[in-house]
Amino acid sequence: MSPTEPSRTDPLLRVAGLNKSFGDNEVLRSIDLSVETGKVLALIGPSGSGKTTVLRCLNGLEQPDAGTVKFAGGPAVSFTEKTTRREKESLRTRSAMVFQGYNLFPHKTVLQNVTEGPIQVQKRPKAEAIAEAERLLERVGLAEKRDDYPHQLSGGQQQRVGIVRALAQQPSLLLFDEPTSALDPELVGDVLTVIKELAEEGWTMVLVTHELAFAREVADTVAFMDGGVVVEQGPAQEVLRTPKQERTRSFVHRLL
Ligand code: ADP
Repeated sequence: MSPTEPSRTDPLLRVAGLNKSFGDNEVLRSIDLSVETGKVLALIGPSGSGKTTVLRCLNGLEQPDAGTVKFAGGPAVSFTEKTTRREKESLRTRSAMVFQGYNLFPHKTVLQNVTEGPIQVQKRPKAEAIAEAERLLERVGLAEKRDDYPHQLSGGQQQRVGIVRALAQQPSLLLFDEPTSALDPELVGDVLTVIKELAEEGWTMVLVTHELAFAREVADTVAFMDGGVVVEQGPAQEVLRTPKQERTRSFVHRLL
């Protein structure tokens, strides 16, 4: 369950000058971010500010128009028309995403959902992938649900499966996209507890969240985005308690 240990000198992830447009809509403008190994970066900001798009660019679900992404121990991948498939693949395997809407396969069991990536994509031995999945399910209290289908689970249980599926890919970075915003309030706590335990264990994470109280609890650094730019970033306590920018201040004071 321990995260891969990269070099201690580099940040685990460094993003520089990331740009992304959808048609005429410039959604990300010159985004610079970095996350140190074992640390949690919370991305906060109003709806539509580009937070999800940042995660999707990191995970290869969207291709940035420009910018550089570098993971510790790997090459700096610059996005141009010439970026190769191989370079994009090399980034994709470094992170795993936990989605707002869980995104489990409805016709696969919990165990099949978790082992799909390791067996089909990573070509790991089946017995090993199953043993790992069982261990991870046990750890989030879902061992007995291994043969259930997603619709037989509560939202909170489905999201814990989503987290286990991400862990089973053995990434160096976990990406969480509003992991609790689709949940009924009484189910939020269990999922946040799992995320907090993973942070305490030393997993490196980028967490998009509206739960600022939770961000204050788990995040080491916070980046506030608005209108496709990072307005302010720094230590979590500073950005959330004494923000320097007026836009950050009014957002944080409304929600905290
Ligand atoms: P946030 O996560 O901060 O709410 P998003 O990254 O989801 O913001 O969206 C940023 C902007 O990008 C929004 O204006 C949204 O409509 C637009 N957008 C996101 N994904 C797409 C897409 N696939 N096609 C077109 N526009 C998109």
